[in-house]
Amino acid sequence: MSFIPYGRQCITKEDIETVVQTLESDFLTQGPVGGEFEDACKQAFNSTYALSCNSATSGLHMAYEALGFGKGDTLWTSPNTFVATSNMALHVGGDVDFVDIDPDTYCMCMKALEAKLIQAKANNSLPKIITPVHFAGQSCNMKKLKELADEYGFFIVEDAAHAVGAVYNDKPVGACEFSDIAVFSFHPVKIITTGEGGMVTTNSAELAQKMADIRSHGVTKDEKRFTKPSEGPWFYEQQSLGCNYRMCDIQSALGFSQISRLAENIKSRIQISEVYKSQLAGLPLTFQKLEENAVSSWHLFVIKLEDASKRLEFFNYLCSKNIGVQIHYIPVHTQPYYKNLGFKEGLCPNAEDYYSRCISIPMYHTLTNADQQYVIDTIKKFF
Ligand SMILES: *Cc1c(COP(=O)(O)O)cnc(C)c1O
Repeated sequence: MSFIPYGRQCITKEDIETVVQTLESDFLTQGPVGGEFEDACKQAFNSTYALSCNSATSGLHMAYEALGFGKGDTLWTSPNTFVATSNMALHVGGDVDFVDIDPDTYCMCMKALEAKLIQAKANNSLPKIITPVHFAGQSCNMKKLKELADEYGFFIVEDAAHAVGAVYNDKPVGACEFSDIAVFSFHPVKIITTGEGGMVTTNSAELAQKMADIRSHGVTKDEKRFTKPSEGPWFYEQQSLGCNYRMCDIQSALGFSQISRLAENIKSRIQISEVYKSQLAGLPLTFQKLEENAVSSWHLFVIKLEDASKRLEFFNYLCSKNIGVQIHYIPVHTQPYYKNLGFKEGLCPNAEDYYSRCISIPMYHTLTNADQQYVIDTIKKFF
């Protein structure tokens, strides 16, 4: 049996042809295909604005800064995420804190959040932004989160890196019905890919403008926005501090081609998840519980072992059988960098317990029936 990874990209001939067309065109960056990919994302995610960027990490930076987040502000997120979610808040000079996960959904626990908000209000230390992470592709309880945002006055940035093609409350994740901004990743291991890349969506013209400025050096060539009269056709103004977070057209072309197959991609992932759930039922392990009103995009398929002491052996066993597995995630607050900031083990017991039991098994839309059956049979043999 050849190696089966836990996740992988799918590049078709059509994808390659689309990229080659761009390579042969006049534009390698900021040409027409960039706008076409953004338009396709607006449509797929049902948002008023969609801005491409060179990674979800850059997208998180753009989102936090556009919301005016910085020194003296605090962002709360889930510890069950990749480090970028909270790193970018620190990067722009703010503080972070973590809200424990629900032991069944592996997403931010709304009860824990509410309790923490009540306490923070009493201490006058409410967060400015809360970033829920749609873990493995299933949306958090956004209705409840929005209710709390209205009551306690914080912004919501969805870390939707896993949730390309996911649905919540009958709308695509990214529609921002209950949030200010959503951020997607197109890293190769995610649902669709541009090599490296990301996308931010919002329904706010003001936030979209601010994020566009941050993406491109804080420079505008829009005459209507100039503070002084244009001095000629070359003229531009730098009005704020920005970075170069642009996605190039080679990447946009790949994304544009990839997103045309999003629906079949998700359909296949849902089918694969159902086969796993029915065939692994009865073993000493549990599956992620789904939120009401949520259709997961199944970026990951995680199983949680009843017996944490078996996890390392199980992990090594699957690797020895040529099955790629991974652990998502080491709780962020337990990383050495965060420990140095004062975070301690025990802060989020559910996330820590979950981490000791979880394991992501192969999930990607081109996983064949035969390969999946091999994974299932191999897992059954272990138990
Ligand atoms: C992958 C990922 C990111 C970062 O995405 P990049 O595009 O690699 O920068 C952020 N958050 C989560 C939850 C992720 O899985």
